[in-house]
Amino acid sequence: MAATGERPRAAVVVTGSELLTGVIADRNGPWVAAELSRLGFEVAHLLVVGDRPDDLTTALRFVADAGVELIVTSGGLGPTADDLTAEVVARFAGLEMELDEGMYAHIAEILAAWAKRTGFDGPALDASNRKQAMVPRGAVALPPVGTAPGLVVPRAGGPLVVVLPGPPRELQGMWPAALDAAPMRELLAGVPAAEPRLLRFYGLPESEIAATLRELGEPAGVEVTTCLRRSELEVDIRPRPGTEGAAAALADAVADRHSKHLLSTDGSSTDELVARGLLAAGAMVATGESCTGGMLASRLVDRAGSSEYVAGGVVAYSNEAKTALLNVPAEMIAEHGAVSPEVALALADGARAKFGATVGVGITGVAGPTGGSPDKPVGHVCFCVTTSSGEVIARTVRLPGNRTDIRERATDVAMHLILRATQRL
Ligand code: ATP
Ligand code: MG
Repeated sequence: MAATGERPRAAVVVTGSELLTGVIADRNGPWVAAELSRLGFEVAHLLVVGDRPDDLTTALRFVADAGVELIVTSGGLGPTADDLTAEVVARFAGLEMELDEGMYAHIAEILAAWAKRTGFDGPALDASNRKQAMVPRGAVALPPVGTAPGLVVPRAGGPLVVVLPGPPRELQGMWPAALDAAPMRELLAGVPAAEPRLLRFYGLPESEIAATLRELGEPAGVEVTTCLRRSELEVDIRPRPGTEGAAAALADAVADRHSKHLLSTDGSSTDELVARGLLAAGAMVATGESCTGGMLASRLVDRAGSSEYVAGGVVAYSNEAKTALLNVPAEMIAEHGAVSPEVALALADGARAKFGATVGVGITGVAGPTGGSPDKPVGHVCFCVTTSSGEVIARTVRLPGNRTDIRERATDVAMHLILRATQRL
């Protein structure tokens, strides 16, 4: 067990040669690491190794020597010859492989209909079913989400090893069963609750948080990490056992000091807050987008249930489209230019009228790399949010980065302006 005041350490070992050749990016390591942190483990290592058994063994030994109490592996559970994780882990744990008859029948059943339909129900299939039903003696087999069972493998005097399949959907689907397996439950019972505080800020530079933390002082045993994501600053304040009070006090002080820029203290994202705000107000939003070309509408409908608060959007890219579809007067465009606060407002009002919505959003800007001018350089973007009750929130900003960055950041800014508008509904 971990010493008092320390969190038990865990490691994630991701296998797959295609991850090392850069063919696919690892989606399992970060997901499992986040889950383990949430459960209260200190994730000490996240390793990616190829499909060679020796490399996997080396990785398992390395993290075991580093004193972790839990190892989670991903990948290499399938029926093919390069899927060797179960055997390697069994050898690592000093356990014999044996056929789990129940699992063998279960896998055969899963594949029976497919085998019948395709005619591939010969000895090859039977051999692969058998291979997948081989389980280290004493391990708990987790029911397959695809066709491969997962494993929870105890190791005398060493870390518990949880073996999960590679396809992210299968891995995530199997996770609840892994947590529910008896050896895992036993381990989790000794893990102190994490209870981290996640503060989110908008429009606040990292240097401000750093200065505040220097001034307030970071209490011993409280781990603070700051991370800039999607124009938002996340401050994660995590207590070690026994420092919960100090962590909570620090979180309150930091939130209080920067309350003007504070988005949430419970980890809620801007997108969640926008959805909640619109729903609470019974409001519908409509978009009139130029340089973001529909990215805002797409972002708004990302969440399930968005039809309750998203009316629709128009991508009005050309001047003619702005006039024909959203009623932006051609003279206005001629006088102020397509990228102007006037046109942003007309796009917002036009979208709101077109869809009979409560909230309208207009975005027009210079995404580059060409088309900039001295007074409207690349990254110059005009926003406007208008509401049926007469609120007008207008912003003109200069966004950094390349074309993609500017369009993504413009979408972020628009989400924040919608959030501000929902707070006034
Ligand atoms: P299968 O029965 O599908 O072979 P498996 O447990 O043996 O499952 P792998 O062979 O390691 O898993 O991976 C199968 C596929 O799952 C990979 O080709 C890849 O598309 C996806 N995959 C595996 N590991 C990862 C990962 N870490 N991140 C993202 N995708 C992954
Ligand atoms: Mg495989």
